Amino acid sequence: MHFFIALIMIIPKEPKLSVEQLSAVTAIVEEYDCKLQAIVGHHRSVYAVLGEERKTVMVNRILGLDFIDRFDAVDSPFKLMDINSELAHHKIVLGNHIVGEGPFVIAGHCTIDPKNPNLFIESAHAVKEAGAKAIRGGVWKPRTMPYSFQGDDASVKILMEARSQTGLPVDTEVMDEHQLRIAVEAGVDILQVGARNALNYSLLKSIGQMTQNKKIAVLLKRSMGMGPLNEFIAAAEYIAAAGNPDIMLCPRGTNPTMDGYRNYPDESITPLLKEKTWAPVIVDPCHSVGRAKYVPSAALAAIAYGADGVIIESHLDPQRGIGDDPKQSIKPAVLKQLVTDIEAIWAIKNRTVLAGN
Ligand code: PEP
Ligand code: MN
Repeated sequence: MHFFIALIMIIPKEPKLSVEQLSAVTAIVEEYDCKLQAIVGHHRSVYAVLGEERKTVMVNRILGLDFIDRFDAVDSPFKLMDINSELAHHKIVLGNHIVGEGPFVIAGHCTIDPKNPNLFIESAHAVKEAGAKAIRGGVWKPRTMPYSFQGDDASVKILMEARSQTGLPVDTEVMDEHQLRIAVEAGVDILQVGARNALNYSLLKSIGQMTQNKKIAVLLKRSMGMGPLNEFIAAAEYIAAAGNPDIMLCPRGTNPTMDGYRNYPDESITPLLKEKTWAPVIVDPCHSVGRAKYVPSAALAAIAYGADGVIIESHLDPQRGIGDDPKQSIKPAVLKQLVTDIEAIWAIKNRTVLAGN
């Protein structure tokens, strides 16, 4: 399917449709050249009718089925990601962690060096020991210069080895369907959509379709040129409408840059996002400030703003790293102190929230 326009979301009376009910509804929508797309939430499933135009007769026929409660009446462009949508209580579970319940720290190399797999594995163990709940490692890299190291399919194996040795979920960026297929087949837990692809709607749709019902989450970076918050949430809506609502939003700094930083730090958009969407916010302070020495403060600021976690580039020996590691990776020992501080800020933040401030 090359397009979708989800005009209506069907809400069943039970948390999800049975197989027979699903085929009854599917038969109706197909008569009208539409398709039915299940969006499986943590507490309930909703069903998007995908098609080109609203068809009143079809709508009335579906509403006439006794197991259908109603159509979603959310008055928002975001049928799925809106704070008031049927998925508002959706939870993303990664490893032993329910995102939103305690700080979710993802850490590891910017880039996996396929010539030195052991270094990545050792860093993975070290960031786990420092308190990370998931491991990051770039298999494929969006590099500014075409002559820089672009990544290597072979690094997926190294990433999955880190997963099996640490028992933690793993995160990597995919930029096209070839990479997407390899990552999904390998069993990567979190697919990162980078800042350069955050507005690549074809890729967003493919990711939503290929990851649905596979317990794979998507970490959607904010594009460096992205202005309005709605543009960011709309990109997430693309992935959800294609079938996968397990989306975390990741502010990572925008352009124009702030003098001295790599980008313009944007962790302060966290509470604004949270007014509009239920999606967890995982801030990336490394790409935002771009210099290791400023990363801990930016990470703590993110948590103070109410972020559900951070994604941090961390490397045992940053000077031996590739990609961004030499300039913006923090050592696992620094990460360990940071995780302790994050927990302290988290506790204060929750106390503040409880106090109603
Ligand atoms: C990265 O996470 O290494 C990366 C390239 O991030 P971004 O897409 O935010 O630049
Ligand atoms: Mn990087």
